[in-house]
Amino acid sequence: MTRREEIIKLLEKEPTSAQQLANFFKVELFEILGDLGHVRSSIKPRKLKMIPAQCKHCGFKFEERSKIKKPTKCPRCKDERIMAPLFEIE
Ligand SMILES: [Zn+2]
Repeated sequence: MTRREEIIKLLEKEPTSAQQLANFFKVELFEILGDLGHVRSSIKPRKLKMIPAQCKHCGFKFEERSKIKKPTKCPRCKDERIMAPLFEIE
């Protein structure tokens, strides 16, 4: 099984952040981001869904940011404890 196929299996099971995937496969984050791009197009018509990053302090949701990378700071309370966006396959 290729890494991309394994990623699809994992994301079908539970929502996972890109960093968790990078840790799991012991590769750099940018490699996972590349994989996710391919996964997104290879699973059609199913969708790769992103659960937006959220501030752990005030609950601010980074809805308008469709970036895969995790934001570093909350625009509302300036807290830096941000929950990474999670990916899942519906
Ligand atoms: Zn906040």
